[in-house]
Amino acid sequence: MIDFRSDTVTKPTPGMLAFMQSAPIGDDVFGEDPSINSLERITAAKFGMEAGLFCPSGTMTNQLAIKTHTQAGDEVICDELSHIYQYEGGGIAFNAGCSVKLLHGDRGRVTAEQVLAGINAEDVHKPISRLVSLENTSNRGGGACYHFDDFKAIKKVTDTHNLALHLDGARIFNAIVRNNEAAIEYGNIFDSISICLSKGLGAPVGSVLLGSVPFIKKARRWRKVFGGGMRQAGFLAAAGIYAMDHHIDRLAEDHKHAHILSEALAQKEFVTSILDVETNIVIATINGKYTAASFVAALKEKGILAIAMTPTQVRFVFHLDISESDLAQTIDIIKAL
Ligand SMILES: *Cc1c(COP(=O)(O)O)cnc(C)c1O
Repeated sequence: MIDFRSDTVTKPTPGMLAFMQSAPIGDDVFGEDPSINSLERITAAKFGMEAGLFCPSGTMTNQLAIKTHTQAGDEVICDELSHIYQYEGGGIAFNAGCSVKLLHGDRGRVTAEQVLAGINAEDVHKPISRLVSLENTSNRGGGACYHFDDFKAIKKVTDTHNLALHLDGARIFNAIVRNNEAAIEYGNIFDSISICLSKGLGAPVGSVLLGSVPFIKKARRWRKVFGGGMRQAGFLAAAGIYAMDHHIDRLAEDHKHAHILSEALAQKEFVTSILDVETNIVIATINGKYTAASFVAALKEKGILAIAMTPTQVRFVFHLDISESDLAQTIDIIKAL
């Protein structure tokens, strides 16, 4: 099977496995796992942040950030397509007791004007606007990325209104590679950043939350409360260290392959539109000979896995375990459908 369902499906490479096996470990709840401590330090330094916190999932790093920035009764401002709103099980309400102000952006990206318009006036009737959360790249937006200047404009608004600014950077390295950004600049913009090691970077498990020393201290406490304090998890952190050393630059290849697939899909009469490919995700709208579900079923019969995101949209995600020959084989199969 060639698996385009998600960039989470990657398996560790032999090099990664060997590095994991040789990792020094200790009890991280005691703060004594050298590999986790290194990963947290390395990641924070890369992004110009003070401190990091290793967690089992990106859902947990996002939810910890929301919990740490807010009080129950506050409001979180985000785009309607955001993972924190769409795909985290209602955690904003359940974990943090917050309401959500949804913005209607472009493929998951919002503007400073939209953020400003989403902030509630000081009014006893209204929840207190406390946190703005952005997503780069946008998952539901088909891998769309922000221009860095948009972050700067949004940061001005959040500073002026005394709001915290969080980044769901599950695929931040895809954006950095695509736009040739300096990771360290992100530290000047965001109060907290969530980074997934388990997506295109190819680690089996893990995310890192970044922020100031006091912020991470509070988040570490909430991580324990959420049940995310792991013990000798340095083997997993080592996979993340290895991934950051070996699997960032190669993301450009995934982006190139995604673009090539989108061009092949565009030739089919049952593909009525495709979101412009910016990174490693291709979202095609299917209409005519196939529905999204029947197209996915036809692909599956030929050994290709993709996801029907909506009744009309199919998503393909590129990652470490999709080779150039997998791409060529996929294109041949699609040509024949
Ligand atoms: C995958 C993802 C996450 C985190 O997902 P987990 O499966 O909990 O690690 C968060 N945000 C976005 C945009 C994602 O794509």
